[in-house]
Amino acid sequence: MEKKYCQIVVNTKTKNIDNDSFTYSYPASQQSIIKIGQLVLVPFGRRLIQGIIIDLPSSSLFPGNKTKSIKDIIYLQPILNKYQIALARYISSYYFCSLGRAIFAMIPSFILQSSVNTYQLDQRKKINQNDQTKYPILSFFLEQTQPISEHDLIKKYGSMVKKQLTLLVKFKYLIKQQQFLPPVGQKKYQEVIFLNPNFSPKITTIKSKPQKAILEYLLYRRSAPWATIKNQTSASRSALVALIKKEIVLSKKEQIIRLPQIFSPKNPMILKLTDEQTKAIREIEKQQQNQSPKPILLFGRTGSGKTEIYLQMTEKILAQGKTVIVLVPEIALLPQTILRFLERFPDQIAIYHSHMSVGERYDQWSKILQGEAKIVIGSRSALFTPINNLGLIIIDEEHEFSYKQDMTPRYHAVDVASHYAKLTRSILVLGSATPRLETFWRAKKGVYQLIKLDKSVKRRDNEKPQFYQLDLRDEYAAGNKSLLSYSLQLGIKEALTQKKQILLFLNRRGHATYVFCRECGYVANCQNCQIPLTYHSDQSNYLVCHHCGLKQANIHNCPQCSGQAIRYYGAGTQKLFQDVSFLFPAAKILRMDHDTTRGKDAHQKIFADFRAHRADILIGTQMIAKGWDLPNVDLVGIINADAGFNLPDFRSTERNFALLLQLIGRVGRGQTPGKVYLQTFDPENPLLEILIREDYQLFAFSELIERQKGLFPPFVDLVRLTYESTNLNQCQVQALNLFKSLNQAFHRQKKQDLKAILGPAPAFLSRINNKYRWHIILKGQHLQSFLHLVPPNWTIDIDPYSLL
Ligand code: ADP
Ligand code: ZN
Repeated sequence: MEKKYCQIVVNTKTKNIDNDSFTYSYPASQQSIIKIGQLVLVPFGRRLIQGIIIDLPSSSLFPGNKTKSIKDIIYLQPILNKYQIALARYISSYYFCSLGRAIFAMIPSFILQSSVNTYQLDQRKKINQNDQTKYPILSFFLEQTQPISEHDLIKKYGSMVKKQLTLLVKFKYLIKQQQFLPPVGQKKYQEVIFLNPNFSPKITTIKSKPQKAILEYLLYRRSAPWATIKNQTSASRSALVALIKKEIVLSKKEQIIRLPQIFSPKNPMILKLTDEQTKAIREIEKQQQNQSPKPILLFGRTGSGKTEIYLQMTEKILAQGKTVIVLVPEIALLPQTILRFLERFPDQIAIYHSHMSVGERYDQWSKILQGEAKIVIGSRSALFTPINNLGLIIIDEEHEFSYKQDMTPRYHAVDVASHYAKLTRSILVLGSATPRLETFWRAKKGVYQLIKLDKSVKRRDNEKPQFYQLDLRDEYAAGNKSLLSYSLQLGIKEALTQKKQILLFLNRRGHATYVFCRECGYVANCQNCQIPLTYHSDQSNYLVCHHCGLKQANIHNCPQCSGQAIRYYGAGTQKLFQDVSFLFPAAKILRMDHDTTRGKDAHQKIFADFRAHRADILIGTQMIAKGWDLPNVDLVGIINADAGFNLPDFRSTERNFALLLQLIGRVGRGQTPGKVYLQTFDPENPLLEILIREDYQLFAFSELIERQKGLFPPFVDLVRLTYESTNLNQCQVQALNLFKSLNQAFHRQKKQDLKAILGPAPAFLSRINNKYRWHIILKGQHLQSFLHLVPPNWTIDIDPYSLL
């Protein structure tokens, strides 16, 4: 039999970066069926494993008959296109992971079949009493009629059972087999009943009342789901079966498309563009004419009309017969952008967001694969859905940190999208009021095209909010023990009288941030993570670790010196809630933080309540900075503006500034420009003045100077190498060894790509979940060429989001 060959990437979790693509064969007779991008089943070692065909080279390249053959094709239709495979190659080389990890990161897990090992008795072996005495577990197998999964056996006997099983397989008591479970993603069907078109029923000839009821129901509607008919007519299944037997009605299975229930499209209004918007669209179209279009940064504050530009650009791209991907952040509240797109293009959209259930995502993904969607809108992973004929990628709020994936491959959606746009010759539009400094710098240098929107579509330019800056040191000196300065207290009072709403922001949850002993200096730390525990006062008093979730009873005596001088330092949203309730007992107050939003729709509910003015004051962490329009908010109080500026991380200043700016943008959406109260211990901080001017560009320039001084992105690239172990000594030894070999490479290098190696040192979060963490940080350019020195059990993070 003549054979053909293909290259297949298999789904192993290997950390070995260049070893998961192999040659397999298939009969030449199947040549017309086998395609690049197909999901197949292949033998791998002693098991079967899933893989993707990535190449079909000419057969002469692979002589020899040692190659194994493809066992099965799981889906005839390819699930990745050639651009996606090319993109995976880029991700694998840039983010330094195996091609398999990159490829399988693009395939939703609900498509894949997981495999399990099962065990059953080998029928050829006669088991006697003696065997059973020696191996009591055999009695259990004697009672079974079906193979038992390893998982179930471990649940029953504990993980020690594995060795026993291996032994019993070796001595041929048991047979071990690999079984594939069906994929989690499945189509959902319903039974639909309709009138037989070849049959004109005379209702009078039917005597049975329930049958008559069913028929009458169908005469109006021709067809309906059985569940509905049953519900409406109370007829039983036997009545239906009787009608089917008489061939009066027919029954068929129909797929149900599951859609999240949150959407209620209204009639869209297509707006007449402002001059600024028209100009922006013209620039984008001009860029499209280029041989290699530059990515575009659409830099404009909330309300400057960016979304309207996305919508109208999308319309133009669709008119060219091409498709669009829109990425939105993975924030707690479902982004409103999704609704705007859904209103404008109800029939052409697939939604692919982390808020959706597996079933919902499966249906949407299938729709994309079948080519039935022209627009995909969703979070980070929507970039990897198999849409063809791409013309435009939009990334809204490009600065959001949910665009960086925190598992291998640790890619950043903006950088991956920019390469994808190049491969497919699409345009990439990045939108933000507070772009990442990397993005801003690229735009300034002309790597990206900068389009600025200076005007607010609705608000007149002179209508800036009124700012009040309050020195918390003065308040303290004046004996004010509350978290609210006297001025802010008055401001709140006034807003309440005018029936306006109030947002109070404090970026820390819980009650107190430190619990310590004033006598001996003892601090209550998490035993797993070695960071201070936070005091929470809901229901009962307890201490919580905000990293690993450890919860323990509050302490009253110092465990170190047995003294009674336990004190609380710092304040969180719980304490703020307490203070505000005490000062304004008549006001209705809501709190939105990690602790009050555990339930599935808790965010939506708190926001809906506040928006409908069922509460006067909303207290919260950064969750309240992002989200929907709140037209009745007239006052924003920032309880401590300094808190986020002093973290030991190069990005913390940028993040905090962007956050505060977004918060300020929450006022003035109604009739009046609104008021902002900024409380600080550090009124001389020049950033506060820039904040009050709401000048992100000025901030960006001043912060870029700091980044250049400190040798941080965008002036160098960073790679973070992390090693984790429960054994501290092992961490240190590993880190030191790697540091030595990197340091040798540092001195050997010719091109001076590697500018600095920091560490080895314990990470700022030096112990999480009982694992010590050590890291080494590389600074420079083209750092990938040094990473071959890194052993496979290290975590490699290219362009890390944070160094904490
Ligand atoms: P952004 O995405 O920058 O926040 P939007 O596109 O959402 O801005 O616009 C802000 C508000 O102004 C929205 O309510 C939108 O409907 C409205 N808007 C945008 N463009 C126009 C326009 N050309 N004419 C009238 N209203 C507009
Ligand atoms: Zn912890």
